[in-house]
Amino acid sequence: MEACWSLVLVAVEFVWSVVEGEVDGLVVDGCCWLGCCWYNRKGATTPMPKISKIAKSIEFAQLSPTSQDAAWMEIALEQARRAAELGEVPVGALVIKDGEILGLGHNRNLLDNDPTAHAEIIALRQAAARFGNHRLVGCEIVVTIEPCAMCAGAMIHARLARLVYGASDPKAGAAGSVLDILNHPRLNHRMQVTPGVSANKCSELLKSFFQAKRSATTRG
Ligand code: ZN
Repeated sequence: MEACWSLVLVAVEFVWSVVEGEVDGLVVDGCCWLGCCWYNRKGATTPMPKISKIAKSIEFAQLSPTSQDAAWMEIALEQARRAAELGEVPVGALVIKDGEILGLGHNRNLLDNDPTAHAEIIALRQAAARFGNHRLVGCEIVVTIEPCAMCAGAMIHARLARLVYGASDPKAGAAGSVLDILNHPRLNHRMQVTPGVSANKCSELLKSFFQAKRSATTRG
């Protein structure tokens, strides 16, 4: 079991080092293989470059589906941490297809003065632009918290194949906690849902963010 988790960590470190462009020989035209690091530098809104290469190491491909989900979630969590650094609610998301990251994002509501700028929407928009289609057929989304009604609706519009999420959201979750928009019997799209991936890490991040906010308010 320990060996298995070591393998996951190695895979996560590898994928993340590629995201960060830190692996020698993987940098293409000033960017990394994944082509997604351009967007999420602190506050950056650089236009999307035309690159998209698959970062699929042999080690990563050999992991079990559960371990792969956990590895992708580590990248979503890193996005969520970036959101927290910027004072945004720490939620991160990525859209993947066949082991390639097509879109990556974190909450940007305050940065962009945009009520729709949830991590999932940022990642979906980026993925659709790269995919060249508003229907993201066969794509999966990984997000640190259960999506809200807006994001769940966007996932249906995008025709995603699967949602992987971390913590449940008992206040606004639309994948079963408050509403069940995904897979609603009256809607015409079905999506596989995998809940609870690295749920403790995801909820701890949110808890500590809001605790710090409350402490700052009390002190002020
Ligand atoms: Zn949302």
